[in-house]
Amino acid sequence: MTRKVQIGKIVIGGGQRIAIQSMTNTKTSDIDSTVKQLAELEKAGCDIARCSVPDEASAIALKEIVKSTSMPIVADIHFDYRLAVKAADAGAAKIRINPGNIGDESKVEYLAKYLKERSIPVRIGVNGGSLDKKYEGMPLAEAMCESALEHVRLLEKHCFEDIVISVKSSDVVNTIKAYRLLSQKCDYPLHVGVTEAGIYEKGLIKSAIGIGSLLCDGIGDTIRVSLTDDPVKEVYAAKEMLKAIGRYDGAYAEVVSCPTCARTCIDVQGIATRVEEYARTLDKSVKIAVMGCVVNGIGESKGCDIGVAGGKDKSVIFREGKIIATVPNEKIYEELKKEIDRL
Ligand code: SF4
Repeated sequence: MTRKVQIGKIVIGGGQRIAIQSMTNTKTSDIDSTVKQLAELEKAGCDIARCSVPDEASAIALKEIVKSTSMPIVADIHFDYRLAVKAADAGAAKIRINPGNIGDESKVEYLAKYLKERSIPVRIGVNGGSLDKKYEGMPLAEAMCESALEHVRLLEKHCFEDIVISVKSSDVVNTIKAYRLLSQKCDYPLHVGVTEAGIYEKGLIKSAIGIGSLLCDGIGDTIRVSLTDDPVKEVYAAKEMLKAIGRYDGAYAEVVSCPTCARTCIDVQGIATRVEEYARTLDKSVKIAVMGCVVNGIGESKGCDIGVAGGKDKSVIFREGKIIATVPNEKIYEELKKEIDRL
């Protein structure tokens, strides 16, 4: 069991529910755009959001940004400890910084003391693509793990143990190995993800394998699905991953749809997509089946709260295992929506 770490109103580690994270891709100094994106992330179900703080203007903007949302904000700092201090003053709930990159150890000591006094945790985030030269020649997973532990030891030396760690790489297998190694060597909570995973479909697959494998091993206290896409999609993807392994804690809609075949009588893809988009906006647990014909459609629909089994011109609508209507195919979505609302 990992230790508990408090990030604003969210506690991670120690068997708490797995928190979903994402990161804004607006300029943090552009307060309006960042606030707007954070609102979208929160609405989608994001628990913790990270904003880059590359300069002083971003650190100043963070003050307004933090006030605009109920999500804890993590300030992502590259190496300038003064920006970390400013972000802490602005209300950041966690600082992502690697203490070994700060420079002079007196700066690490100062920052550790400053954050400790304010109960602000640090995430050490090792990235496989930017490892220190001294790890050259070492297998990537071992190198990432060792690098993370070195940063950890530096903070521990200055009596700071409010730590979360990540060891991400764009290489899925090495990411999994690195987290497995790390989880054997320390009990700090782990933020899990595959970094630079790529554009939507590719990123989803790499993240599902990497994050999914680790979560099934019982490793991971927070997750981020990194996508070269709208960050809101990262949140939806993270939710889907947690749902798929039964680790999502909360009401959610699940849409089951068939892959379609020569028997398909209705626009399964179009209807399922609309149902999925609508269901995402709801805060209720409901399982909906969209099936292209009666061959498998009847059984699957009966097993869901609501379902449709496609027919040539008309389709059969099910609710809680019983046929409740037969509707023209062009009315299927409206009928399903009506039944979802009634539940
Ligand atoms: S439910 Fe019917 S249409 Fe859909 S894949 Fe199965 S057999 Fe084909």
